[in-house]
Amino acid sequence: MTLSAAIRPLVRFAPSPTGYLHIGNARPALFNWLFARRHGGRFLLRYDDTDIARSKAEYAEAIAEDLGWLGIVPDQVIRQSERLAIYDAAAERLRGAGRLYPCYETADELDRRRKRQLARGLPPIYDRAALKLTDEQKAAFAAEGRKPHWRFLLEAREVAWDDLVRGASHVDCASLSDPVLVREDGSYLYTLPSVVDDIETGVTHVIRGEDHVTNTAVQAQIFEALGASLPVFGHHNLLTTASGEGLSKRLGHLSLRGLRETGVEALAVAALATLVGTSDAVRPVASLDELTGLVELAHVSRAPAKFDEHELETLSARTLHQLPLAAVSERLAALGLPVDEAFWQAVRGNLAKLDEAAQWWRVVQGPVTPVIADPGFAATAAELLPAEPFDATTWKSWTQAVSAATGAKGKALFMPLRQALTGLDHGPELAALLPLIGREKALKRLADQSA
Ligand code: GLU
Repeated sequence: MTLSAAIRPLVRFAPSPTGYLHIGNARPALFNWLFARRHGGRFLLRYDDTDIARSKAEYAEAIAEDLGWLGIVPDQVIRQSERLAIYDAAAERLRGAGRLYPCYETADELDRRRKRQLARGLPPIYDRAALKLTDEQKAAFAAEGRKPHWRFLLEAREVAWDDLVRGASHVDCASLSDPVLVREDGSYLYTLPSVVDDIETGVTHVIRGEDHVTNTAVQAQIFEALGASLPVFGHHNLLTTASGEGLSKRLGHLSLRGLRETGVEALAVAALATLVGTSDAVRPVASLDELTGLVELAHVSRAPAKFDEHELETLSARTLHQLPLAAVSERLAALGLPVDEAFWQAVRGNLAKLDEAAQWWRVVQGPVTPVIADPGFAATAAELLPAEPFDATTWKSWTQAVSAATGAKGKALFMPLRQALTGLDHGPELAALLPLIGREKALKRLADQSA
């Protein structure tokens, strides 16, 4: 889609800090972030923390940290818990307009009513009995000490919008219960503060999971009741486990920090999270900028997308294989590996996880305990080892000479040399490793000395 140059989008990611982010929550974060990048817009991180009992500061911190790991740095951060006065004003406005009405039913009463409706084959929609309460009845409830909760009076009409993902979309609000916006204790459910913040902060595009489609219809009516125009909406599909179950915040192993601990590449998480279930192939990317150019909301499928951990591992390895040194050098340094370009080029294609570079760093730096099955062969090879400087062609000319002298070919030629030089029977191309190991260490290893 194209946006007019005059519009600088503002998007938001609005997690409740009630748990750690998992790969499913990473999707709206990334879709919003990439959308903002693509269109020169800004990204707001909004903590939906009006549920004081369940929201925790440590989760909020963890969310910012996990977003940072993905490469997402918000342009602005707000907390709903600090904005209650703004919601109070909006609620007052809705009350004044007759769109927010007090209800006194207990949860039990509502439950019994719902069961009766279902037994009669009726949809379990709130019957608006509270609208018929007289002022005397309300006063009587108040005198009893009963506090009302507050419902938004929905207009019984269809709400339609052009969804960034799903195209023409509509929800008939006649089939919905009037949503409760304010609890008995005066605290807010998610619905109203979200709209008020979207209006107040000037959010232009609301991109979120399709579990919010019905909310969008309700919230569209609240936007209008508050005299605001609607943002553009986009609802992406949801992610399920490979067996089709929904992801829950409690699934620790799919939490972003759990994935990070397994050593998975953040860029692979970002690519998989946003390309899975789109019409574009999931493929490794070298940067979020590259991903920005690939992710199109209109290409996201409407069917649930399946998350496959094995696919993530494969993608993570493929991501590493093409990353430039600059993208990993800090992390390598933190692992105690002050590697250079030649080393990185030699080993990156062999890594499933970045920390495996340590093994090849040891092979290059030593000490390596060589594995020598045929000392005579190794001695001949040592004699034929060219003089330094070594370069990318040294391995070829050396092994040709060794083959000519010993008659060994193929595996019988290469394996004993690999085992002598690295102590291992697998690993990166020796043509690249040999110059890094150098002549001195190579000679010692061929002589069965640890070096
Ligand atoms: N706090 C809401 C959630 O996590 C935000 C939904 C929205 O983007 O409006 O589901």
